[in-house]
Amino acid sequence: MQAIHVQNSLTRQKELFKPIEEGYVGLYVCGPTVYSDVHLGNCRTFVSFDVIYRYLRFAGYKVRYIRNITDVGHLEGDADSDAEDKISKKARLEKLEPMEVVQHYTLGFHDMMQLFNTLPPSIEPRATGHIIEQIEMIDQILANGYAYEANGSVYFDTPKYIAEGKPYGTLSGRVVEDLLQESRTNLKNQDEKRSPSDFALWIKADERHLMRWPSKWSIGFPGWHLECSAMSRKYLGAEFDIHGGGNDLKFPHHENEIAQNVGACSHGGARYWLHTNMLLMNGRKMSKSDGNTITPLQLLTGESEHVSKGFSPMVIRFFILQAHYSSTLDLTDDGLIAAEKGYHRLMEAQRNLLALSTTATSGALDVEIEDGISKLYEHMNDDFNTPRTLAALFDLSSKINGLAGGQIGLDKIGAAVLDRLKTEFVSFTQEVLGLLPTESAGGNSAVLEGLMSLILDIRKQARNDKNWNTADKIRDTLAELDVEVKDAKDGSTWTIK
Ligand SMILES: [Zn+2]
Repeated sequence: MQAIHVQNSLTRQKELFKPIEEGYVGLYVCGPTVYSDVHLGNCRTFVSFDVIYRYLRFAGYKVRYIRNITDVGHLEGDADSDAEDKISKKARLEKLEPMEVVQHYTLGFHDMMQLFNTLPPSIEPRATGHIIEQIEMIDQILANGYAYEANGSVYFDTPKYIAEGKPYGTLSGRVVEDLLQESRTNLKNQDEKRSPSDFALWIKADERHLMRWPSKWSIGFPGWHLECSAMSRKYLGAEFDIHGGGNDLKFPHHENEIAQNVGACSHGGARYWLHTNMLLMNGRKMSKSDGNTITPLQLLTGESEHVSKGFSPMVIRFFILQAHYSSTLDLTDDGLIAAEKGYHRLMEAQRNLLALSTTATSGALDVEIEDGISKLYEHMNDDFNTPRTLAALFDLSSKINGLAGGQIGLDKIGAAVLDRLKTEFVSFTQEVLGLLPTESAGGNSAVLEGLMSLILDIRKQARNDKNWNTADKIRDTLAELDVEVKDAKDGSTWTIK
């Protein structure tokens, strides 16, 4: 088994990863709230954890990977009570069942994840499917004295929890005194709470709230933070190995998760917390309000003022992996164009490598090649350092291209080393980093299917919006590529001529 070191947000140290049970890893990652199309920042997070999941499996672990779907409880502005549930609000505004909203955006999310070649998690539990477990957890927290009921809602009692010396603020680095004194001015309708730092475990539903369940406290719904505590405990145990998510979730979401876990059963959940960093664009935070934003779709189609053209999912994946998951990643058109070149160079080296053969039993380059291969492991073992792993693949690529181009004689490499190089190079590129050659996106592969269903969805939406220009442009461009689209009452189908 590889000795993997991870940067643990909980201790702020790089630590040797030791699973609770030898050979097994429990991995929980906070999934999307499915009330809108998945953001590019989320795509970055899920691609990053996909590589972590892939490498742990590659290193020989049996991994149970849980990535939830938040389909209730996530309130606008992340505040409690007065704010509205994101999904409930969308459903009310669009006159849909909340579960229609959930289904629509869950499918879109899955399409996008498939496009970026991320592996599906072992279990993808939904918050609404675990109301009983969440109510059970509230019962335990109440019984242990760390929560109180007020007017049909239940709140976590942070001052009491903190007074007993329990860990609050450790993960996010927030100072407990500041948390307790946070101003009430930005918190509306919070008079039910004993302290502004308290957070909701159960929220009594008001009449406009569409998603509601009966409980002994009120007809209501669970607080957003609770689902991850309840579902990680259910599928991975009270104590498990790795919890991941975007670093914007450290506070309050992850801090509150730990408090709930400790409050319910004295275990804080995960031993190692891994956080992905922010995705920037042109050096600035992405923000809808000032237009400095781009959706995954716009990035794929090139229909945005921020990019000169569209980029393939594999190029975008390559671009994401060029930064370490814990560093900020700055999206720029130049950066994407460079990533496109890099991706193609890597794929070309892979093609060249697979065509190589030698009759030598050993060669002068053997040690150097073996060294280069061990660097791949070394860098992935070092907190899943994908940029360094890519750099090591490029070091090997220059040798490969030299061998393929005749600048280096094929007698310089032994057959056994060449075989190993082929296996390891392809494994790291495709299995670990998940970078597939473009040609495998041909035919009727899953990637092509996903891409086409996405494109036809956009066209359908354009037709619904009577945006004939976009709809026709998509049909005509596909026709130029010999893809024929047939429209029928129940949807469109496509064939390659
Ligand atoms: Zn979560």
